[in-house]
Amino acid sequence: MTLGIEHVTVFDLDDTLYLERDYVASGFAAAGAWLAAERGIHGLGGAAWSCFESGHRGNIFDIALGHLGMTPDPALIARLVGVYRGHVPDIALAPDAAAWLSAPPPNRALALLTDGPVASQSAKIAALGLADHGLSPLVMTGTLGEGCGKPHPRGFCVIESAYGLSPDCFTYVADNAAKDFVTPRRRGWRTVQIRREGRLHQASPIDAEHAADRVITSLGEME
Ligand SMILES: [Mg+2]
Repeated sequence: MTLGIEHVTVFDLDDTLYLERDYVASGFAAAGAWLAAERGIHGLGGAAWSCFESGHRGNIFDIALGHLGMTPDPALIARLVGVYRGHVPDIALAPDAAAWLSAPPPNRALALLTDGPVASQSAKIAALGLADHGLSPLVMTGTLGEGCGKPHPRGFCVIESAYGLSPDCFTYVADNAAKDFVTPRRRGWRTVQIRREGRLHQASPIDAEHAADRVITSLGEME
């Protein structure tokens, strides 16, 4: 047990501490700048953002290159994805997250549990200064092995072990009811869903097991 710590608030990253669409915009701008510098072709960033805004997911670079009259060959797509994931993102904590993290309740530890490509998530963690805000451990499920993304329990276990407190001392704050709450709920954690304006995942929980105990729209609503 960590002395003096009575509760651990564990945060998800994307659309929980900052708006993921800001990362997407930043990544497309970086990929567009790379293509302009590397090949002299302009407009990819804007074309990709338009695709994203009209609801495309997953194959946006293929579609955007097509709009620029280019054949989206796999090697070029791979380079663009690499630039996107490796870029230094221009993102910031949501104002309510910055306020909460700078003055958390007493006897409270903070931690992070996030899915996603390790290169991207590391760059986001650095850009948001999460280590400086005292979040520890910073668990990226991409480092835990194949298939360990949420709702796999491994990441939650890593955090429990780091503190050695009983499960009811942990709260998971996250946005995506499809995968974020079912496992911590089963383990006896408290769960809070934050539904930010502008978030990417809008779907309602498929059943009560996937729902959070509480729904908030700002971290200012957390006690
Ligand atoms: Mg999220």
